[in-house]
Amino acid sequence: MTAEYADTASAAYRAALQVVESVEPRIAAATRKELADQRDSLKLIASENYASPAVLLTMGSWLSDKYAEGTIGHRFYAGCQNVDTVESVAAEHARELFGAPYAYVQPHSGIDANLVAYWAILATRVEAPGLAEAGVKHVNNLSEQDWEALRHKLGNQRLLGMSLDAGGHLTHGFRPNISGKMFHQRSYGTDPQTELLDYDKVAATAREFKPLILVAGYSAYPRRINFATMREIADEVGATLMVDMAHFAGLVAGKVFTGDEDPVPHAHVTTTTTHKSLRGPRGGLILAQRQYADAVDKGCPMVLGGPLAHVMAAKAVALAEARQPEFQSYAQRVADNAKALAEGFLKRGARLVTGGTDNHIVLLDVTSFGLTGRQAESALLDAGVVTNRNSIPVDPNGAWYTSGIRFGTPALTSRGFGAGDFDRVAELVVDVLKNTTPEGTSKAKYTLADGTAERVRDASAELLKANPLYPELTL
Ligand code: PLP
Repeated sequence: MTAEYADTASAAYRAALQVVESVEPRIAAATRKELADQRDSLKLIASENYASPAVLLTMGSWLSDKYAEGTIGHRFYAGCQNVDTVESVAAEHARELFGAPYAYVQPHSGIDANLVAYWAILATRVEAPGLAEAGVKHVNNLSEQDWEALRHKLGNQRLLGMSLDAGGHLTHGFRPNISGKMFHQRSYGTDPQTELLDYDKVAATAREFKPLILVAGYSAYPRRINFATMREIADEVGATLMVDMAHFAGLVAGKVFTGDEDPVPHAHVTTTTTHKSLRGPRGGLILAQRQYADAVDKGCPMVLGGPLAHVMAAKAVALAEARQPEFQSYAQRVADNAKALAEGFLKRGARLVTGGTDNHIVLLDVTSFGLTGRQAESALLDAGVVTNRNSIPVDPNGAWYTSGIRFGTPALTSRGFGAGDFDRVAELVVDVLKNTTPEGTSKAKYTLADGTAERVRDASAELLKANPLYPELTL
């Protein structure tokens, strides 16, 4: 951002906060405080990032006021010409950036994107053939008996996805999410020795289970996936390959993941969030091959509420940013920094799931420090290091207390952190964990040795000061 725009953006925020303050001061105060807190914390949450002021400013407009159910050119409301422009521009950027034949930018979040994608696959592979068999074009024209038979088929399909403790996501067919109630689910894990995806096992499970949908993608797997191999497996068993790249979309956009590691040419349907490594506004996005495009395009009102035009506008701005060469160097730094963080942990004796990383995630097994994930997460927070606890494969402490801490590099890389800074972060984290002692047999309580939190906060403050957040915003 040039100095001219930095001043303009700062003035815009000051004005906006003043206006908010005049109506509800507590909201203006919380917004200001959030900026201060984010500036002052070492944010290592793998799913978070810092969107640019341009992206953030785009969201604060009257585009929010317009109802536009439907899709580009086919709305259930009048006067949607500007929303059509916004949605078209965002979809065009998404298609160009990812090399996809079709893009849908309406999903309000990653979970919503997955739900739209699941329905689109069911509609294309189960509902449409059912209607053709009954000789009708629309569900309303089915007899009650045929409709019941079709509903039975729609509700009895199978989905195969990555297990939660190997790094999969709840929306990949697990019972606490609606996907686990929609589908019969089976999951594939990782090799017990290497903790890496075992493609032969995925193939064997797919042959036996014969899923309609094979889901690839993760929230906490610190490695790349070969999507060409996943597609071969899907093709062999007649499954639709859906890739959820919510976490690593920025590495795809930034051309760090190419060839077999780029899901878009291999998957029938690719879903993502726009706010993690992609560094856009909170939201979701779907890329699809032609065969699924019409069904995805019916996402609203089939699955989603009315599109958030102001957020689609911000997606367009973020996607335009991601098409710039600087984004590619950012994405490369995200991956390089994760390697530096992993090496920093390894050389200090820590154990990492899979022994390292080749994406933006590092998963630290904190049992090597005698701690649960819950204890480690809390002790790190006491010292101003923001992370989240996470299961590790075959986790001895279960999904609540866990045995892992997940680290991600996208946010601090956006602040300008380099490899040397991440080595220092590893040193600080290890300092905290070595000075944390469990209390008795509790999986939650712990004692942090005197002086540790202060020492680590002081050291973090130096790193944060050297890499300021939103330096262009003088607020
Ligand atoms: N898919 C994956 C792989 C994720 O990691 C997440 C969020 O953590 C989601 C989907 C859901 O995204 P959202 O929180 O935007 O609904």
